[in-house]
Formats: sequence, C-alpha cells, structure tokens
Amino acid sequence: MNALHTSVHHSAVFDHPEMGEHENIVFVQDKETGLSAIIAVHDTTLGPALGGCRVWPYETPGHALTDALRLSHGMTYKNSLAGLDLGGGKAVIIADPRKDKSVELMEAFGRHVERLAGTYITAEDVGVSPDDMEAVARHTEHVRGTSDTGLGDPSPYTALGVFEGIKSSARHVFGSSNLQGKKISLQGLGHVGFDVARQLHEAGADLTVSDIHVPAVLRAIEAFAATAVDPAEAHMVDADIFVPCALGAGLNARTIPQIQARIVAGAANNQLQTPADGIALKKRGILYAPDYAINAGGVISIALAKPGGCDTKVREKTIAIGETLTAIFDRAKREEATPEQIADRMAEERLSNANSV
Ligand code: NAD
Repeated sequence: MNALHTSVHHSAVFDHPEMGEHENIVFVQDKETGLSAIIAVHDTTLGPALGGCRVWPYETPGHALTDALRLSHGMTYKNSLAGLDLGGGKAVIIADPRKDKSVELMEAFGRHVERLAGTYITAEDVGVSPDDMEAVARHTEHVRGTSDTGLGDPSPYTALGVFEGIKSSARHVFGSSNLQGKKISLQGLGHVGFDVARQLHEAGADLTVSDIHVPAVLRAIEAFAATAVDPAEAHMVDADIFVPCALGAGLNARTIPQIQARIVAGAANNQLQTPADGIALKKRGILYAPDYAINAGGVISIALAKPGGCDTKVREKTIAIGETLTAIFDRAKREEATPEQIADRMAEERLSNANSV
C-alpha cells in the first residue's frame, strides 16, 4: 500500500470527527446470517464497557459508525458519573428491526460479543426486545438485562432516579424538596414518564400532562387528577418544573425562550439540541438537570442487578442520583458553569483518578 492510500484510509476512519479516545472499534460481517454490525469500545478505565445494542436501518455504514462512536462515548460518561465500575461501549446492528431481525442474526451478534472476551458487555437498546437478548445470551455470558441476569424492565429505576433528581433540583431552587402543591408539566407518559407522574402525584404535585398518544393522557387524567395540554405546548405551561420524558432535542433556540418553569428535570435522552442551549437555559435562570445524570437509574439496574431479583443495591445507587445532582448544582454555581459542563468534568475526574492509581 502506498502513502497516499494510507492517508486516505486514515482520514476516513481514524480522523472521524467522533473518534475521540476510542480504544477499540470492531466491524462485524457475518456472511451466513447477513449480520452487519459495529461494536465500539470507548473506554475501559473503570471496567468492562457496558452499553446497549441498537438495531437501526442506518442509511449508510458511515451513519452507523458515527452513532456507535457517539453513543459509546456517552456511555463512558454516564457509567462514570453514576459511580459504576464500568466503562463505555455501544453496539449498532445495521438492519431494520421490523423486517431484517431474526433469531439467527441476534445469535450471530452474541457470538461476536463473546469474541471480545468481556471487554464489551451488551444490553437492550432501541430496536431490541428481551427475546432478542435471550438469543444473544445463548452465545455469550457478556449480556445484562436478560431474565437470568437482571431485574427486567429498567424503566421503574429510571423513574425512581428522575423523581429523586426532581426533588434535589427543587431543593436547590426553592430551598425545599417538598413537592406538595408544586405545579409540574410532564411531557411523555411512556414507561418512564407515567411512573414519574405517579410519584409526583403521590408527593402532592399539581400535574399537567401531555403525550401524542391520547389513551396515555386519559389514563393520567384519571389516575392523577391531572390536567392535559397539547404536547407541543408542554414547555410553555405556567409551571414550577418542566419534566421532559418523551424524545430528545426538546430544549432548543425556539423552546427555551418560552419555558415558564424554573427547573427542567426529566428522563428524555439528549434534551439539549446543542451545547449553546445549556448556556441559554443558564442565562434565563432555569436550572437544568443533565439528562445522563438524572436518567441513569436504568443503566444502574442493568449493571448491578443480581439474579434472584433483590434490588436493594440498585435502589440505593439510584436514589444517590439525587446527591450527585446536588453536588453538580452546587459546583456549577461555584464555578459559574452549566450543570452539564460540571457533570462532564466530574465524569472525567473519576476517570483520571482511576488512571492515576
Ligand atoms: P416510551 O417509548 O415508553 O415513552 C415515550 C412516550 O413519549 C410515549 O408515550 C410517546 O407517545 C410519547 N411521545 C413521543 N413523542 C412525543 C411528543 N412529541 N410529545 C409528547 N409525547 C411524546 O419511552 P420511555 O422508556 O418511557 O423513555 C422516555 C425517554 O426517557 C426517552 O427519551 C428515553 O430515551 C429516555 N430514557 C429511558 C430509559 C428507560 O429506562 N426506559 C432510561 C434512560 C433514558
């Protein structure tokens, strides 16, 4: 291979904008089953790289690589900040979950995870069902979140962590974690959102709810004496706290000026469209609970669950999300930074401390 070829290949892969400090990227081609996958191990300083497997019909392998690199990087930060002795990784399978997925495909994926000898531990993500993970688990022990390894659905733990995070946000802004009579607008009544709404209702909050799925809204009105609002207007409600539990990028240049609440704290992933949106929230005096800090209950349950169903440790660590957020908010105030900048710093500090011992 001549020098020109080397540099072309180098810039296409090693100079990828999301490449960062990734340790290991495995491209999987399984001729027999047609499996096409990328497994990205970002960092194993704290332990084996844990992160879900996503099945998605990516337009190009380049899009799949970008997603794998970005998501695995995010898992390093999430696992570090959650205090788990686990690194960050992620797998993506290039396939349409509704058309191309098969038991054989998932089993082949399991065989390739096994080859990595435990440096990567897989779990469910978008496009992957519990049955798929059972197929993976037939070929590797490096799986979490299956019926043999865990507590099942992580959503109740995510919801518990979000509830604790809302209380610690309220303490920071209003001087008390008591939610009695607080006006809260919650967007997205799915697995996590509905359970967060239940806990807020039990804590005495006055709930406004929204979802594009009308039956979920009707259920919440009935169960929590909630008021309903159009999902597109959830952030504009005259509320003390806005709780996004639907999809990402809801906090952006259009929505931030319309937010009435003093706090944004919810489960949705990737809530800030860009880093500038975090700064815009701070400028408006709105406290933002960084998404990957407040929604870590699910990964904690996947990481720490033991077969047999005892969840004491998982609950303790999930409840501690409240204390982590308090530490983030206090430090953000001291250092005049945004909470998400501090969350990143704290995650990085834990990694560099581990590196120096
Ligand atoms: P889900 O699919 O069960 O629920 C999402 C809900 O949002 C659905 O009821 C859907 O109808 C609603 N929705 C979609 N678009 C909407 C919109 N524009 N306005 C209002 N409602 C809308 O998902 P989930 O498991 O409850 O997860 C919710 C969020 O939390 C997601 O962003 C997810 O990535 C994140 N999260 C979930 C977990 C977990 O343990 N499930 C863990 C970490 C993060």
